[in-house]
Amino acid sequence: MGEAAQAKLDGQRKAPAAQDIYDVIIIGSGPAGYTAAIYAARANLRTLVLQGEETGGQLMITSEVENYPGFAEGVLGPDLMDTFEAQAKRFGATLLPRNVTKVDFSAQPFTLWTDEESYRAQAVIVATGASAKWLGLPNEQRLQKRGVSACATCDGFFFRGKEVAVVGGGDTAMEEALFLTRYATQVHLLHRRDTFRASKIMQERVRNNPKITIHYNTAVEDVLGEDSVTGLAILDVVTGERQTLPVQGLFVAIGHQPNTDIFKGILDMDAIGYLRTYKHTMTNVPGVFAAGDVDDARYRQAVTAAGEGCRAAIDAERWLEARGEVDPAVVSDPRDYGELHAPTSEIGVGA
Ligand code: NDP
Repeated sequence: MGEAAQAKLDGQRKAPAAQDIYDVIIIGSGPAGYTAAIYAARANLRTLVLQGEETGGQLMITSEVENYPGFAEGVLGPDLMDTFEAQAKRFGATLLPRNVTKVDFSAQPFTLWTDEESYRAQAVIVATGASAKWLGLPNEQRLQKRGVSACATCDGFFFRGKEVAVVGGGDTAMEEALFLTRYATQVHLLHRRDTFRASKIMQERVRNNPKITIHYNTAVEDVLGEDSVTGLAILDVVTGERQTLPVQGLFVAIGHQPNTDIFKGILDMDAIGYLRTYKHTMTNVPGVFAAGDVDDARYRQAVTAAGEGCRAAIDAERWLEARGEVDPAVVSDPRDYGELHAPTSEIGVGA
């Protein structure tokens, strides 16, 4: 590469001041956000990640991650996210631990505000994730990573040979309970009412599984244990009877809340708040893309979120190129930049 071309690349990689216009701003710093940053920065897009004040997403509250490919021996959630972050930095992404409080997607460049400053970008990738809902019990947070979890796929393995409880009456609770029967000797499914809202087929599977005991009309009042979970204080909401249920694990499965409050009325979302995407990862606003749990109520895995972050960055890059916002001399892949403007019926053929 000649000196002039290298100087141009270096110039593009330099972090612009706050009032400069970025090619892409990524909101969020979980697997989706960081992967989008790795791809966008490596494609020489001027990339800013507004990470949120609590960086790293849901894996920061997970202990061992054993199902992320590439780590044969497993990896601690926070260590994995440190690695993601370092990789994004390596390619020149600017990372700021700030919460986005407001956005204006009505005109380009888009404007995003934090408490301190505003930032502008030609494209935005929303990777704000979803948060598991918790019960709000006195000792629930203290015993997280010590027996309290909101993800059976992530943590179920650690309960081999133990007795556990799942709270909830929706499809997630049914799925978590069924999944946990692979490891636990007994799974107690605790639901606050006497009917489930889960689909009939899932209810049937749960009822037919001899390892699952259903406790209707049951509320959890607290999690017991000093260093790890030893039981639950439960209440029969009909009889008023209180007792201790001796279990070593509590899986809270009362739903997830996508972090989309600041996009209400701006980006299309479903009744729960999950973002809708139309052309690949693009939302209803051209130039605004979504990746990860914020638009995925189904898989919710670090690896699927990372995959979506990659897709969103490639879509953003192609979209910017199609709009002539990026110098074609420095984009990484000269193919198909007009694809996002093709009629839907043509999209995906041969992709
Ligand atoms: P849901 O909102 O469907 O269910 C939440 C459950 O948690 C309800 O039973 C609710 O009780 C209970 N709950 C809520 N708050 C509390 C609380 N504070 N204390 C005790 N219990 C509480 O969430 P899901 O995550 O189960 O499902 C979300 C969506 O994703 C649904 O549309 C579901 O069908 C879908 N999904 C589909 C799957 C599949 O197809 N395989 C798998 C997982 C989810 P109550 O009923 O009394 O309100």
